[in-house]
Amino acid sequence: MNQDFKNQLPEVISVFPDLSIKHINGQDFLKGILDIADESSTVIGSFSVEIHPTEEFPYRFPKIFEVVGDIPCDIDWHKFSDNSCCITVEQDEIIKCHNGITLINFIEKEVIPYFANQLYRIKTGRYLNEYPHGKAGVRLFYCELFRSSNPKFWFFCIERAFGNSKTGRNDKCYCNSGIKYKKCHFFVEEMLQIIGKQKVINDLILISK
Ligand SMILES: [Zn+2]
Repeated sequence: MNQDFKNQLPEVISVFPDLSIKHINGQDFLKGILDIADESSTVIGSFSVEIHPTEEFPYRFPKIFEVVGDIPCDIDWHKFSDNSCCITVEQDEIIKCHNGITLINFIEKEVIPYFANQLYRIKTGRYLNEYPHGKAGVRLFYCELFRSSNPKFWFFCIERAFGNSKTGRNDKCYCNSGIKYKKCHFFVEEMLQIIGKQKVINDLILISK
């Protein structure tokens, strides 16, 4: 039993009264309805969900399931055959969970936007925004993170992040943005350090194949 997860459940159901705490095999999880609202707080759709703990929570996401089948179990719909939802790419999850996440934050910042995106697809036939699958998704993640699609620049940036040659905080950034380093790729290097050198390098080797 993940105690962090368990401790946060009462607060979650006070914020989301359509969710309730269930117990199975000595494990607590959340089950119920999640409403999706538009900008004017009008409910535009609802999904039947379960949220289960993972061992790594709060340093990784819990598991979220859409249990009724309003969303097809199809990787093209970012939903797996066990009903679990694919919220984002692993690297993005690692960064978001770096300081630990709360369940409420997870629901508000990750789960609700995921289902809002699904509703948009159900209505219009396409996603508002999405990561492609597998290697292409990882590639897009790193292109956005580095703000560059040039592998030479990626490895230059990695050397800066993990090597000794540090850029002066107030110097112009090495990416030629014209912005001070401390407001530019300094943050990119921090993200790389969170993901970890070995994982970054393995990912980059994988996507450049
Ligand atoms: Zn820069």
